[in-house]
Amino acid sequence: TELANIRNFSIVAHIDHGKSTLADRLIQSTGTVSDRDMKEQMLDAMDIERERGITIKANTVRIDYVANDGQAYVLNLIDTPGHVDFAYEVSRSMRAVEGSLLVVDASQGVEAQTLANVYTALDADHEIVPVLNKIDLPAAEPEQVRQQIEDVIGLDASEAVMISAKSGLGIPDVLEAIVKRLPPPKGERNAPLKAMLVDSWYDAYLGVVVLIRVMDGVIRKGDNIKMMQTGAKYGVDKLSVLKPAMVDVAELGPGEIGVFTASIKQVRDTKVGDTITHEKKGCETALPGFKPSVPVVFCGLFPVDSAEFEDLRNAIEKLALNDASFSYEMESSAALGFGFRCGFLGLLHLEVVRDRLEREYGIDLITTAPSVVYHIHMRNGEVQELHNPADLPDLTHVDHVQEPRIKATILVPDDYLGDVLKLCQDRRGIQQELTYAGSRAMVVYDLPLNEVVFDFYDRLKSITKGYASFDYEITGYRQDNLVKMQVLVNDEPVDALSMMVHRDRAEGRGRAMCEKLKELIPRHMFKIPIQAAIGGKVIARETLAALRKDVTAKCYGGDVTRKKKLLEKQKAGKKKMRQFGKVEIPQQAFISALKMD
Ligand code: GDP
Ligand code: MG
Repeated sequence: TELANIRNFSIVAHIDHGKSTLADRLIQSTGTVSDRDMKEQMLDAMDIERERGITIKANTVRIDYVANDGQAYVLNLIDTPGHVDFAYEVSRSMRAVEGSLLVVDASQGVEAQTLANVYTALDADHEIVPVLNKIDLPAAEPEQVRQQIEDVIGLDASEAVMISAKSGLGIPDVLEAIVKRLPPPKGERNAPLKAMLVDSWYDAYLGVVVLIRVMDGVIRKGDNIKMMQTGAKYGVDKLSVLKPAMVDVAELGPGEIGVFTASIKQVRDTKVGDTITHEKKGCETALPGFKPSVPVVFCGLFPVDSAEFEDLRNAIEKLALNDASFSYEMESSAALGFGFRCGFLGLLHLEVVRDRLEREYGIDLITTAPSVVYHIHMRNGEVQELHNPADLPDLTHVDHVQEPRIKATILVPDDYLGDVLKLCQDRRGIQQELTYAGSRAMVVYDLPLNEVVFDFYDRLKSITKGYASFDYEITGYRQDNLVKMQVLVNDEPVDALSMMVHRDRAEGRGRAMCEKLKELIPRHMFKIPIQAAIGGKVIARETLAALRKDVTAKCYGGDVTRKKKLLEKQKAGKKKMRQFGKVEIPQQAFISALKMD
């Protein structure tokens, strides 16, 4: 296809503003997919994505469109992930296209992720077409939202396209705007091949499938290629475009987007952002800005039933095949036995992986406290990365500890502003900005990532009745007075509950933790001390009283079947418990004890 007749674009939006619905309408109205094959949210393939209504991996579709000028165009839509955990993937896929549709829900207005995504698009030099969606809703206020886009984002929204992705109203205008207002790609057909690796995934039949955007040159089936960052070499077995089903093509030229397979074994061999060229007569310089995505949140995953360890290993290996951003290594814990220390791009990523392990593979898991990566500066000048608080080296060798900080942007209706400021303050936040956009405030805070990983987002949603939106980026590392807090149950340390905390917060957190555990651990036949300690010094303490009666006592001996039932019930309950020395701690206690309110 001629460059002039190609348009490559993405859709950026806050979650739920209608990105997937719009993508569906574009696919449907151009006949890319027959009505018979059309299912809702065509591009959100994974079950978890559908259930949670979020797009995790980028998806792509090539749309053929004959415009009002009578010419045939190829429109390539790359659907980007909609969550902050995947910010790097978003920024890479944005570099593979020239423009964006900025979808804003006309009944909600600009939200935190609208801002974050639109800035990423502007960073990638995109032309942006504002689209006001859901104008069918009685609560829609397109004029106000149009003004808000101009005031808050600083984009000209005078020609914003008004649509209802749900009813299909305005969809032809969107297609015309893509052709008329977005620029065609640039590229040199006669130059050496230079293509960007945008995404990759594992397909049960085809193996690893690699999504690319050709910048210069031409890639053909049968070509010998190499990846410039990893140095790996392959032969192209199959070359296709996505409509969204694979349709084979003989070649892909400049500006085009498609996929290939090349007997690549694992997704981890393909690095998002890498440059692909020919093995011989390749291009000299790689595309700029490559950086591998690194996990920022770690936690331990242990099987509730230690007999399931091998199942867990298999499941984790399978998942990792298709998710290069997830890392794991074996870990053993005195209390929990064998499991894995796993690294994730963020909390949502962690939840998605844990959910899949439990649901798709049917493994009951204990998840230890999520921890960020600390930098431990040793007295001898060495710097170690700490992924697990339990591994903190002897403090006499430690000079200081640094923790990752984030810049958090929160948009919230005026009424809830006070509560939000208090929450940020409670989490050791430092206010950076406070501005207004209509009746909503935009606050920017500098916060420790550690204070955000566990339940910040849940808290924010609940104190604002769901009206606040939130986005963050990691800004760097800073030294603070950080210590390791241990929890001892019946005088034995439970390393799964060890955590790094700020010294000033340690007592409060320790007390809360002990109180909670006292509620969560069932009584035993003996008294159980529950303590929080820093380096051997106890900072909080509770005692769980001993159980006096046995459960069957009130059955008066006569009713044997009832007694049996009770005992069976107890046994079933035990399955969900872990034995710590002589004490059994229910699985749920680990999760609940770590919530910080
Ligand atoms: P995404 O998170 O941006 O992909 O949003 P979705 O496309 O999943 O849409 C979120 C919700 O808004 C879904 O329940 C859609 O049915 C609904 N929705 C999308 N577009 C419209 C619209 O134009 N009008 C109305 N009333 N609802 C819409
Ligand atoms: Mg979606």
